[in-house]
Amino acid sequence: MPGELAIRLQGVVKRYGPITAVDGLDLEVPIGTCVGLLGPNGAGKSTTMRLLTAQSIADEGELEVLGYALPGESKQARARCGVVPQLDNLDTTLTVAQNLLVFTHLYRVPRAERREAIERALELAKLRDRRDDRVDKLSGGMRRRLLIARALVHRPQLVLLDEPTVGLDPQVRQELWALIDALRSEGTTLLMSTHYIEEAQRLADTVLIMSHGTAVAAGRPSELVLEHAGREALEVYGPPARLAEVEAEAVSAGLRTRRTGTSVAVLGLDGANGFLHEGERRPANLEDVFVLLTGEEIS
Ligand code: ATP
Repeated sequence: MPGELAIRLQGVVKRYGPITAVDGLDLEVPIGTCVGLLGPNGAGKSTTMRLLTAQSIADEGELEVLGYALPGESKQARARCGVVPQLDNLDTTLTVAQNLLVFTHLYRVPRAERREAIERALELAKLRDRRDDRVDKLSGGMRRRLLIARALVHRPQLVLLDEPTVGLDPQVRQELWALIDALRSEGTTLLMSTHYIEEAQRLADTVLIMSHGTAVAAGRPSELVLEHAGREALEVYGPPARLAEVEAEAVSAGLRTRRTGTSVAVLGLDGANGFLHEGERRPANLEDVFVLLTGEEIS
């Protein structure tokens, strides 16, 4: 496989009429890593995921998945990928184990290996004791775990997760993070789209921040923070007029700022650069980078 990349996109463009959903995107996912595609609503994450599964065809650019060129060799690529959709499309009339069995057929797992494949998926999703329950009897978190496990029955080389924890409560999200982390430690290559900063920071080896269909930054979360937001931020609280004053002063001192409701964060305070204000010093973080680069507040 060229350069040991599981995914290689170069100059990819996808238009929907007058809207350019993906606008010259480059993306590389090395084998054995977890890459997080992070971006605000409408940044083009889902479109990128659809291009990778050949549900959409790019207007321009080169796409390779596991060494197969898309869309020409999408069948071969798809057979080796596991896809976790954003929306739950489990068959609620079937049991947990039956849902997995259907996918062993779809993915052509040899008959002699199906049982073991289902056991492994049940174990990963921690659903062994629910195997004979109908899916409509499961909690939301269990269904999500099954949705991920279902994508793994054929031991895919690459797993694509589209917003795996969108709309779930924090406890369920933590459970799913543990599951995704277990996959990572098994060496599965993962591409995960998300608009949760913490999710990307916790799970991804490298993050690609998307805005308006293109990559605005890519790298390890810690490196991105250092490069774009520096080491430290000063959070200054106060009434709007006071915040505006601090902002103006920071900008004239060549510093970047970010409004966070009742406070303004002054970024890039690496040492004594003369910006002395009452406030709370804190380490800069990926959220600062996200807001600086995309201009979007966190939802
Ligand atoms: P979200 O986090 O809200 O899912 P996203 O980053 O996944 O956002 P996309 O769904 O890829 O973003 O959308 C990118 C842009 O393309 C948006 O402006 C969207 O309205 C547009 N778009 C996506 N799919 C279609 C479609 N089938 N027809 C027309 N426009 C589309």
